[in-house]
Amino acid sequence: MIVHTSIANTSDAASWEQALVDAVDFLTAGQVVALPSETVYGLAADALDRKAVARIFEAKGRPSTNPLIVHVADEGMLETCAASWCSIAALLAKHFWPGPLTLVVPKKPIIPDEVTAGLNSVALRWPSHPLMQAVIQRFQGPLAAPSANLSNRLSPTSTEQVCAQLQGKIPLIVDGGSCSVGIESTVVDLTGSIPTILRPGVIHRGVLSALVPSIQMASGVMDPDEGLAQRSPGQHRQHYAPEASLRVCRWEDEPSLLGRMEHEGLDPAKTCVLCHERFPSSPPFMRVSVIPNDPEAYARALYAELFQCDQLRPQSILVEEPPSKEAWDGVLDRLQRAASGW
Ligand code: AMP
Ligand code: MG
Repeated sequence: MIVHTSIANTSDAASWEQALVDAVDFLTAGQVVALPSETVYGLAADALDRKAVARIFEAKGRPSTNPLIVHVADEGMLETCAASWCSIAALLAKHFWPGPLTLVVPKKPIIPDEVTAGLNSVALRWPSHPLMQAVIQRFQGPLAAPSANLSNRLSPTSTEQVCAQLQGKIPLIVDGGSCSVGIESTVVDLTGSIPTILRPGVIHRGVLSALVPSIQMASGVMDPDEGLAQRSPGQHRQHYAPEASLRVCRWEDEPSLLGRMEHEGLDPAKTCVLCHERFPSSPPFMRVSVIPNDPEAYARALYAELFQCDQLRPQSILVEEPPSKEAWDGVLDRLQRAASGW
């Protein structure tokens, strides 16, 4: 079914207030709304209404086995969702909330199975984006919100990118400008005996292990034998992908890059290059994007750059391999999932 998609701007006090009213009206009616957050744009619905949550899966084409993050904006909502709150959850929340960290904890029965893909745990986040916070507070209840993209595609960091994927499928997109973090939250599972990073992000294992020395990384590979009851659902190897085939590689200089491309049958005129250290000239390339050589600035720019590249319909996107340091874990993880070759 095609619906009319309105875009609410929030550039002055009156439009901000109107956007809040409209967003809360749709959410109360069990509809989905795209909202800005500091990580990426989210596609939000009432987390306690299974029919509303089903609309998120429908709009995204998301498999029902991939659970959603539930967003809260006060302690009461946390109590509504979490069956228990261990001392590590309290410590991490104290340091990083509101912010781009998601904590997986035991869930209360009130959270529908549709949200958690039938698991006994729920992923909770208290976002810092003022507009997302304002909507949750005005709605007075937790919102389930995955990224506002079609399943497996690039997560949007601007209204333009949400529109490109979800226009005609959802009634409202609230424009809150560009996302300041730019990649999805770090997800930490606190339901097992060892705190485990299920998905890396800008809050990386270096800072987390300073507070929780026992914390470990989940192995990034899905075990096909574990099937749907896997420990880290939704962590599919191919995810967050642009339409063009993406490869991550290293090059010394432009001639060596061109030589390698010739060897692999890649046409520079149909190739976009993303680099942070060794900048080839353009032309001969279709587009050369220089991304700052800093993990946080890189994360902020990554999806927007990939989106710009995709608009040109290139044959391939080549990404200069980022450093393998823990502060880059989140960026490396997203590139690995976006890549069809390394
Ligand atoms: P997204 O909402 O697209 O940012 O993805 C949320 C991710 O959080 C999912 O793909 C899962 O990997 C993870 N997640 C959400 N809920 C749970 C849960 N109850 N247990 C483990 N991981 C979860
Ligand atoms: Mg997502």
